[in-house]
Amino acid sequence: MKHQIVIVGGGNAGISVAAKLLHANRQLDIAIIEPSDKHYYQPAWTLVGGGVYDIRDTVRPEADYIPQGAHWIQDAVATFQPEQNNVVTRAGLTVAYDYLVVCPGIQLNWAQVEGLPETLGKNKVCSNYLFDTAPYTFECIKNLKKGRALFTAPAGAVKCGGAPQKIMYLAGDYFRRNRPAGDVQVDFFSAGSVIFGIEKYAKTLREVVKRYGIGTYFKHDLVKVDGPNKRAFFKVTDAQGNVTTEEQHFDVLHVTPPQSAPDFVRNSPLANTNGWVDVDKFTLQHVKYPNIFSLGDASGMPNSKTGAAVRKQAPVLVQNLLAAMKGQTLAGKYTGYSSCPIVTGYGKLMLAEFDYDNKPTETFPFDQSKERFSMWMLKRYVLPWLYWNQILKGNM
Ligand SMILES: Cc1cc2nc3c(=O)[nH]c(=O)nc-3n(C[C@H](O)[C@H](O)[C@H](O)COP(=O)(O)OP(=O)(O)OC[C@H]3O[C@@H](n4cnc5c(N)ncnc54)[C@H](O)[C@@H]3O)c2cc1C
Repeated sequence: MKHQIVIVGGGNAGISVAAKLLHANRQLDIAIIEPSDKHYYQPAWTLVGGGVYDIRDTVRPEADYIPQGAHWIQDAVATFQPEQNNVVTRAGLTVAYDYLVVCPGIQLNWAQVEGLPETLGKNKVCSNYLFDTAPYTFECIKNLKKGRALFTAPAGAVKCGGAPQKIMYLAGDYFRRNRPAGDVQVDFFSAGSVIFGIEKYAKTLREVVKRYGIGTYFKHDLVKVDGPNKRAFFKVTDAQGNVTTEEQHFDVLHVTPPQSAPDFVRNSPLANTNGWVDVDKFTLQHVKYPNIFSLGDASGMPNSKTGAAVRKQAPVLVQNLLAAMKGQTLAGKYTGYSSCPIVTGYGKLMLAEFDYDNKPTETFPFDQSKERFSMWMLKRYVLPWLYWNQILKGNM
C-alpha cells in the first residue's frame, strides 16, 4: 500500500492538517492512520470534572471528521522505517509514503505511579485526563463534605500544563460556595517549582490560590497511591537536592499522570534524546529525514503542548510540506505560540497566551492576565463550536 502523504494520528493535529492539505489541493493522495473510531474534544474534560459540561458532548464519531478525499486506515502504527519510507501497523500492514506527518499525541503513563492503575476511578481517586474518569472527578468533589482534596502535577511535559490547576480552582470555588468555611482544605502538590512560568499570569494565580486558601507544595512528585487507605506518597526534593518520601492523607485525590512521547515514537529513529519527534522548531520538518514533518503533542518543539498550539502549527506545517513537495524553500515559521485558558472559578477564566520566549502574545485588546467572564464564555461555548466546525474542517 502506498500513499503520497501518510498522517499518523487522526486527533486534533492529524485531522486539521489533512483538511488543510485538501483545501490547498484536492488531488493529493492522503491516508490517515488512526485506530480509534471516536474523536474527543479533550479541553472540555476540565469542565466535565467541574460538573458544568456533559461528557457525551465531548465525543463524536471519527468517521464524521475524516476529510472527504482522505483515506482512513483504522489501525495503529507500530514501527517507523524512515530509510525505506514505510510505516508498519500493529496489524502488520506496511504503508509506504512520499511524505509523512507524525502526530499520535502524548502517552499517559499511569503505571509510573505505583498503585494508581488499580485505584483510578474509585476510592476517591479521579482524573480529568481520561474520557472514562472525568465525570468521576465531579462525583468526588460533590460528595466531599469535609476533609482534604489534593491535586497533583507531575514532572515533565503534560498536555495542557494548566489543566492540573484548572480543576483545582473549580473545586476550590465549589467548596467555597457550598461548604462552611474551613470544612474542606484544597492542596496543590506539584513536581514543579512555581505556580506558572510567566510572571504576568503567575501574579493572578497567586491571588486565586489565596482566595481559595489553597496550600501549595512544590517539588513534590506523586510516586505511589494507596487508594483504600487514602494515602498519597510524594518524592520530595529540597533546595539542596536531597530527596525524601512524604506521606499525605487525602479524602479526594485528583491525579495528572506522568506523560511522555508514545513508546513507538520514543523507540524509533525519529526521536530526539527526550523521545519526541525530532523536528526543527520553526519549520516543523524532521532534522534528519526531510520528507517527515511533525506537530502536536508528540512533536519535539519546546512549546507548551495544547490544541491552541496545534492551531498555529497546522498552517505552518501545511505551507512547508507543500513547499517541500515542490522543491521550494520552507518559508513557514512557527513561533512557539501556545495558549492556556486557565479556568479560575465558575464563570472566571484567565486566557494566557505566549510564545517560545515566554513572551505574552495576546489576541484581545485588553489585559488578559485578569480573570474574565467573557473568557469563560469563550471556553465554555465558542471554542468547542470552533473545534468541531472550523478547526477540524481546516478553516482556521
Ligand atoms: C484534561 C485536558 C484539558 C485540556 N485543556 C486544553 C485547553 O484548555 N486548551 C487547549 O488548547 N488544549 C487543551 N488540552 C490539550 C489538547 O487536547 C491536546 O494538546 C491536543 O489534543 C493535541 O492534539 P494531537 O493531535 O497532538 O493529539 P490528540 O488530539 O490526542 O490525538 C492523537 C491521536 O493519535 C492517535 N494515535 C495514538 N497512537 C497511535 C498510533 N500508534 N498510530 C496511529 N494513531 C495513533 C490517537 O488515537 C489520537 O486520535 C487538554 C487536554 C486534556 C487531557
